[in-house]
Amino acid sequence: MRHRKLLLVSTFILFTSSSYAKDHAHWAYEGSMGPEKWGKLSEEFATCAIGKQQSPIDIPSDKAVQKDLPPLQFGYQPIPLGVQNNGHTIYVAADKGGKLTLDQQSYSLAQFHFHAPSEEAVDGKRADMVAHFVHKNDKGELLVVALFLNQGAANGELDKIWQVLPKQEGELQQHAEISVDIAKLLPESKQYYSFMGSLTTPPCTESVKWVVLKSPVTLSAEQLKTFQTLYPHNARPLQPVGEREIAVSK
Ligand SMILES: [Zn+2]
Repeated sequence: MRHRKLLLVSTFILFTSSSYAKDHAHWAYEGSMGPEKWGKLSEEFATCAIGKQQSPIDIPSDKAVQKDLPPLQFGYQPIPLGVQNNGHTIYVAADKGGKLTLDQQSYSLAQFHFHAPSEEAVDGKRADMVAHFVHKNDKGELLVVALFLNQGAANGELDKIWQVLPKQEGELQQHAEISVDIAKLLPESKQYYSFMGSLTTPPCTESVKWVVLKSPVTLSAEQLKTFQTLYPHNARPLQPVGEREIAVSK
């Protein structure tokens, strides 16, 4: 019964978790299944090659349009930890993690995961890591919040996840005794860049709203190394910005 419940949870949650069982061997960050080949690996992945609004991008801060962007209203709440090493990243199931309200739209958090270095860049510079918080509204539209992490002071909330980091690929591991307060991962300043983009992993689906927090948070050198030991480079190359407008909080 317990096994069946885990299976349901891990297949229900967006993309990354279900990708372990279904297609974890079908793409990679290097070699013959690397990012340059993604669009040709499967018909379902074609957007990776032919899309016009792909992510990640290098955000040119001087070309971003300053706007009175609506505030990010985070309604995140503590969750019992469910964590998975899915072969592409470390993934935290967060479908009980609350929601984000933006511009009178409510987006439910589904999961968050990590990339090293950060996928997004600002003025050509990538952060040491990024956390992607993946949300969905009731119309099925996706919104991803990107939170940069740079080497500095140790990150207490991250430590709870890192303590039980699965070293091997496998199914979601439940740690009901560990409560992660997702709100505590966020920086004080909620200023952000906003633009349209895609998933940064196959199938590279577009029409994803991106919210990139301007303020980074920190993690210790040791915490960074712990992740890099598992995933030294799980970041897609930068994609052309094209005709997209990038807005930034005033
Ligand atoms: Zn991501």
